[in-house]
Amino acid sequence: MLPTAVMERAQAEFSDFANTGMGIVEMSHRGKVFTAVIQRAEANIRQLLNIPDDYLVLFLQGGASLQFGMVPMNLMLPGGFAEYVNTGAWAQKAMKEAKLFGEVREIASSADKAFTYISTPTTFDPAASFVHITSNETIQGTQWQSFPTTSAPLVADMSSDILSRNFDVTKFGLIYAGAQKNIGPSGATLVIIRKDLLTRAPKNITTLLRYETQLKEPSLYNTPCTFAIYMIALVTDWILENGGITAMEKTNDEKAARLYAAIDNSNGYYTCPNAKEFRSKMNVVFRLPSEELEAKFAKEAEAEGLSGLKGHRSVGGMRASIYNAIPLEGVDKLIDFMNRFKAANS
Ligand code: PMP
Repeated sequence: MLPTAVMERAQAEFSDFANTGMGIVEMSHRGKVFTAVIQRAEANIRQLLNIPDDYLVLFLQGGASLQFGMVPMNLMLPGGFAEYVNTGAWAQKAMKEAKLFGEVREIASSADKAFTYISTPTTFDPAASFVHITSNETIQGTQWQSFPTTSAPLVADMSSDILSRNFDVTKFGLIYAGAQKNIGPSGATLVIIRKDLLTRAPKNITTLLRYETQLKEPSLYNTPCTFAIYMIALVTDWILENGGITAMEKTNDEKAARLYAAIDNSNGYYTCPNAKEFRSKMNVVFRLPSEELEAKFAKEAEAEGLSGLKGHRSVGGMRASIYNAIPLEGVDKLIDFMNRFKAANS
C-alpha cells in the first residue's frame, strides 16, 4: 500500500493541481508546475537520505530490471570484471545481465543453504570495476544488516528497502531502486549515482542508456514518468511530515519484531526458514504445516482484507510485505488473524 493520506491527496488534486485547472498527468514535463514537483521530489530524497552534492539523483524508467543491465553497461571497465554477491533471486537476475558486459565474479553465495541467509564476503578486490549487492532479497526475505566498505565502487539494488532505514550513502558509488515499494507507484526508478562514475561508459552505448546523458538536465532528457514522480513527491513529503527515515525505521523495527515473535512463538506452527540475523524487516516469509493450510490461510486472510500474503510463486509459502506505509495496526491485525487461524486449524 501507499500511505492513505497520499492516495487521498492525489485523488483530491488529480484533475486540478494547485488551482491550475489541469492535472499533473496533463502537463508538460518542462513546464513551471511540473519542474517544481520534480525538484521537490529530488530535494526530499536528498534530505531523507542525506545525499551529498557529488551525487546525481535520477528518476528513470525501465525499473530495477533495466538497471541490472545499465550498471554493467556503464561501469564495467574495458576487459574488466565485477564482483557480485549472490543472495537470491534478484541478485541472480542482476548477475545474468552483467555477464553480457564482462566477467562476473561471484564472491559469495548463500545458495548452499537455499538463500536463507546473507553470505558476506570478507575481502573485495580493489581492481574490480564495481561490487554489486542486493540490500534486501524481496522473494527470499533476507536483508543485509550493515554494508561493507569497498575501494571499488559499491553498487546496490535497494528496490525493496530504500527509505526504510538509515544508511550512509557515501559508501556507495551507485544505488538503484524501482519506486514501487517504499518510494511511490511503479513507473519511475530511483538512481543515485556518484558523479565521477558518469563518464565511465564506453562511447557506443545508446544515448538514453548512458548515465552521462542525465548530467545536463537530470531525469529530463526524454519525457519522464511525470505521474510517478509527482507521487514520489507526495510520498516523500509524507515521510518527512512523519518523522523522516528515523521514524520509519523505528516503526519498521517494531513491526518486524512483532511479526517474527508471533512466528517464533507459535510452537512450530508458523516457521521462518531464514537465519535470525539476516531476516528482512520488509518481507517476512513464513510457512505453515502444509501447502493445503497455506492456501486456506491466504484465502481466509484475503477475506479479512489482509491481501498479498501468498509467497512468490518460485518459493511458495507466505510472505508479508510490510513496507513503510503499512501501519503497526496492520501488522497487529495480521498477528491476530494468525493466532485465530492456528487455533482453528491445528
Ligand atoms: N530488485 C528487487 C530487489 C526487487 O524486489 C524487484 C521487484 N520486485 C526488482 C529488482 C525488479 O524491479 P522492476 O520490476 O522495477 O524491474
